[in-house]
Amino acid sequence: MCFDLANKEIRYNNANSIKLNRTIYVSTGFRLYSDIAEVLMTVTEDSVGGHDTIGGACSNQVNLLRYGIANTCSCRDNFLTALKLYGMSSRDIHANINWFMNVPVNADGSAEIEDGKSLPGGFVELLAEKDVLTLLSNCPQFYNPCSGWNPTPIRVIHWQ
Ligand SMILES: [Zn+2]
Repeated sequence: MCFDLANKEIRYNNANSIKLNRTIYVSTGFRLYSDIAEVLMTVTEDSVGGHDTIGGACSNQVNLLRYGIANTCSCRDNFLTALKLYGMSSRDIHANINWFMNVPVNADGSAEIEDGKSLPGGFVELLAEKDVLTLLSNCPQFYNPCSGWNPTPIRVIHWQ
């Protein structure tokens, strides 16, 4: 998730980003637009060639409906934990980008999480276009193929 640091009520908006980028797939050149159509960040390099921004975060509730398993680890819980550090809450949960998650949309409109296309060492580079707060959940659940049923570590490098 991504917020304008100066006003955290302004946040990443996937609908605006899809409209203004004219694609549902996030890759090099994709701009992360806010609720008020400001550019928060830009994808400057991507080794994968497409990331999801329509699937949203996994949660205990959705995991129960999809996989029949209660009390799973989830991105929603990770986001809630991180939001509390900034005095924020579930009200601040909004659309996110699922880096490295493959959700192809078919010609008939159907979509499904499929096995990822990324390889070990795959990366995404983003440029913050203004001061932003970003929250990252390295999806911890094992019940869909987004991580090959085997979540693995990620590395984040931040530089100025
Ligand atoms: Zn997740």
